[in-house]
Amino acid sequence: MTSAPPPDSAFLARLRAVAREQAAPLRRVSCAVDADPALLPGLLDGALPWRQFAGLPAAYNPDPLRVDGRAVHLRWCAEQVVVWEELARADAGIALGLPGPAMSGHVMAELGDPQQLERYYGRLADGPVWTFFGMTEPAHGSDPAAMATTLTPADGGGLLLNGTKRFVGNGARSATGVLFARRHRGPLGVVAVLLESDRPGFTGVPLDTIGLRGLELSELRMRDVPVAEEDVLGRHRSATRQGMWAAVRTFNRYRPVVSCLALGVAQAAHDYVTGHRGDAHSAAAPRFAEFAAQLAGVRAMVLAAARSADHDPADGTLASAAKIRATRLAEDITTAAVRAFGPGARWEHPLLDKWARDARAFEFMEGTSNIQRLTLAQGYLHGRI
Ligand SMILES: Cc1cc2nc3c(=O)[nH]c(=O)nc-3n(C[C@H](O)[C@H](O)[C@H](O)COP(=O)(O)OP(=O)(O)OC[C@H]3O[C@@H](n4cnc5c(N)ncnc54)[C@H](O)[C@@H]3O)c2cc1C
Repeated sequence: MTSAPPPDSAFLARLRAVAREQAAPLRRVSCAVDADPALLPGLLDGALPWRQFAGLPAAYNPDPLRVDGRAVHLRWCAEQVVVWEELARADAGIALGLPGPAMSGHVMAELGDPQQLERYYGRLADGPVWTFFGMTEPAHGSDPAAMATTLTPADGGGLLLNGTKRFVGNGARSATGVLFARRHRGPLGVVAVLLESDRPGFTGVPLDTIGLRGLELSELRMRDVPVAEEDVLGRHRSATRQGMWAAVRTFNRYRPVVSCLALGVAQAAHDYVTGHRGDAHSAAAPRFAEFAAQLAGVRAMVLAAARSADHDPADGTLASAAKIRATRLAEDITTAAVRAFGPGARWEHPLLDKWARDARAFEFMEGTSNIQRLTLAQGYLHGRI
């Protein structure tokens, strides 16, 4: 991923402190964006930091995060899980709704040729620009074997893209992104294309959701969208190193990030309960002391998964284990936090209500716990853990 040595624990602790401080503005607009996600773009002009967290390559980011005066471009997954946990602790929906490369950036890093990378990052550097990662479909979910979105030859040259993607983060507000489509039959027939959203026949529609509303999950509809060969990612690679190969490596790298987001929400709810004095806290104190130990344990697991992804993005075993544990803990703590304040808690403590809704989204993001268990079992059978 990068030629620099991996970040050590002391550096990560300093990075966490900087990220925590910079993430604070997200909490101030938490409830407003939850009520109306369309407010988010208007807050980027001063109220919310975004360039520091976008993970843009050095050549495209004049204003990166700095620790001890040193620029940090968040190329390591180990850095990302520290920073994104702090962002999620402030507000996970807004963190995910910030502009930048996000998941599509991982695919670009794996498959983009120099011209495609310049086209993609050049546009993002103008910022704020959102990007999409279009994989999941309404009738087939995220099962690539059943993918129905097609890329077919057009009469008179070029290609045509047809299909629908659903539950795509930031989809309707994105200017560009990566979309997966079937070009041929069979597992090697899925390719990734780099696509701008202003092409004819392309529509993005926000979906009404109850959790992580700042992310503005969307449906993308493609009807005879023109695609050129130069848009197809990985053309310079062998067939076994194209669409699904890059998708799997992206998922393995991004699952520790989803895990740290769940952890951040869990930590926020924990902070809230332990920060409130009075009956609610005293009755819940023993349970929340246990949760504190579990948060520390899962945090160590998420970091181990991130380091494993940095070392070998082809191995998603630890990433799956971390996601199962972090997701469950976020659900348990946000539920216990609401219960700690008794009847009416969701009305009287809107953040607790919000976190309980947000926490449920992580189970589905990047594959459900059942799917993670299958990956974990494969890893065990192959001696990876
Ligand atoms: C907040 C959020 C953000 C998202 N962002 C994006 C995005 O940017 N781009 C994108 O393309 N998608 C995105 N998604 C979609 C997400 O990746 C999928 O919803 C997720 O991977 C689940 O896949 P699925 O819908 O195919 O469900 P399935 O995997 O089909 O699961 C449905 C149910 O069946 C169970 N199940 C399925 N297979 C098995 C099995 N073999 N054994 C046992 N049980 C099984 C599951 O556990 C689950 O209960 C997002 C989703 C959320 C919630």
